[in-house]
Amino acid sequence: MPIQQNLKNIKSQLPEYVTLVAVSKTKPVADLLEAYNAGQRIFGENKIQEMAEKHEVMPKDIEWHMIGHVQRNKVKYMASFVSLIHGVDNFKLLKEINKQAKKHSRIIDCLFQIKIASEDSKFGMTELEVSEIIQSEALSELQNIKIVGLMGMATFTHDMNQVKQEFTLLKSTFDNLKKLSTSNFQLLTLSMGMSGDYELAIECGSNMVRVGSSIFGSRSYN
Ligand SMILES: *Cc1c(COP(=O)(O)O)cnc(C)c1O
Repeated sequence: MPIQQNLKNIKSQLPEYVTLVAVSKTKPVADLLEAYNAGQRIFGENKIQEMAEKHEVMPKDIEWHMIGHVQRNKVKYMASFVSLIHGVDNFKLLKEINKQAKKHSRIIDCLFQIKIASEDSKFGMTELEVSEIIQSEALSELQNIKIVGLMGMATFTHDMNQVKQEFTLLKSTFDNLKKLSTSNFQLLTLSMGMSGDYELAIECGSNMVRVGSSIFGSRSYN
């Protein structure tokens, strides 16, 4: 039972206030069920189609988190069930999430993705862009979404000093923006940290970690 053992090990290291998202992308349903049977109820996927397929067949008390980059035209495939969308990085996407949530009479929780990595391949907004959205009239009109936190991904590097700097930047962005709460913008969740860096992320203030390979083993993409 390596998956169950891995989960147990990781959970024993996490402070109580830290939420563990088990990142199950590319993994078969049998692996997810193994984690489920060990008590895991929050799963993260990065492709909407794959998440929807797994949602169909898995037990219904699971919270599904979309952790990947979201294409606007695919929001409709997850609007009926997604619990948290981590990667919101523009206002047009937020409007589409609101529109689709409304069709299902839901309020969908979202995180704004902040760009902290030096790589161009990583998405995200700046603190200034977020504060402009928060102060705009247009945000208050979106009644079917709620921004509950921020998410970020550090640079893929072995240089832990750089990673620490990036996490620290995200934490200070979080603390600054937290002061600006409105009816549908209230920051509580700081989603940062993956298999290679979640301990450091927690030291830097994370309260939600997204862990894949340390639970399910390494992924093969083909
Ligand atoms: C894949 C992925 C993770 C998990 O990565 P691991 O290194 O396997 O823990 C976390 N966050 C995002 C956004 C991902 O795409």
